[in-house]
Amino acid sequence: MEKSVLKKRCKGWLALMLAITLTVGSSMTVLAREIDMGDNNGSAYEGQILQGGDTIRYKFYKIAHFSIDGVYYYGESVIGEQYTCVYTLPGDRSVSYRIGEVIKVGYDDVLTITSFPTPEAPSEEAPSQKAPEHTHDFQWVTTIEPTETSNGLSEYRCSCGSVDGSQPISAATASVNNIVSSIRNVKDGETIVLEQDKIFCYTAYMMSELGKKQNASLKTIFTDKDGVKKSFTIPSGNVPADGEMFYGFTYLGNLYGWEEVEQ
Ligand SMILES: [Zn+2]
Repeated sequence: MEKSVLKKRCKGWLALMLAITLTVGSSMTVLAREIDMGDNNGSAYEGQILQGGDTIRYKFYKIAHFSIDGVYYYGESVIGEQYTCVYTLPGDRSVSYRIGEVIKVGYDDVLTITSFPTPEAPSEEAPSQKAPEHTHDFQWVTTIEPTETSNGLSEYRCSCGSVDGSQPISAATASVNNIVSSIRNVKDGETIVLEQDKIFCYTAYMMSELGKKQNASLKTIFTDKDGVKKSFTIPSGNVPADGEMFYGFTYLGNLYGWEEVEQ
C-alpha cells in the first residue's frame, strides 16, 4: 500500500460518498460497506475482512484511533454526533483489511488493522473462456460391447464427449476375446473345449497364451465350410510357434490329427 495514500486523512462522509460513487460508477457490483462499532471496543469485529472504500464508524471514547500496518490514523468527527468518528479505509477494493485486536497505547485504545491484497475471486466465466482452448484428445473406446451374436461399436471419442468417428466391432471380435479369456482361465490338467462356427483360425497371440500353460489342452470342434463338423486337439506343451500370425483350423487338424466327432 502506498504510504502517501495512507497519510491522507479521508474527509469523513465526503470520502464515503466518493467511495460509493466510484464503486457504483465502476463495473463492480459490490457496494462499499460500513461497519458501525458503536461503543463496542472493536473486539467483536476481530477477524472481519473489509476492503478499500469500506467505512468504519466508532465512538472514539472507546477507540481513540487505530493503526493500519503499524501506522496510526484518526477518524473524522461527525458533526452533530458527539464522540463519533468515521474513517474510510484507503485504496480500492483490490486492497483488503483484516480487523485485529484492540491494544492499549497510553490512555488510548487502538484498533489494529492489517492490509493485504484482495484475493482474486474465481471468475464464473472461466469455464466458457477455456472451452475454445480445449484441444481434443481422441481415442478409440468401446461404447457398445460386442457379443458373439451381435456387433458392438467403437467410437473415436474425446473426454469432452466429442466423437470424430466410429466403426462397428464385429461379433467375431467378441468370439476372439472369449477364446483368449478361456485359454487364460484354464487350469492345469484341464482341456478347453471350444466350439466354433464364426472363426476358422487361431491367432499367434492365442497360441502364445496357450503355450504359457504347463499342462492344458485345447480341443476345437468347428463346422467346416462344407458343413461337416470336425475336431482336433492341440496338446499341452506343443503349441505351434513358427512365426505365423494365424493358424487355420484345417492346417491345425492336419498337424495334430483329426478326431471323431458326432455330426
Ligand atoms: Zn475434446
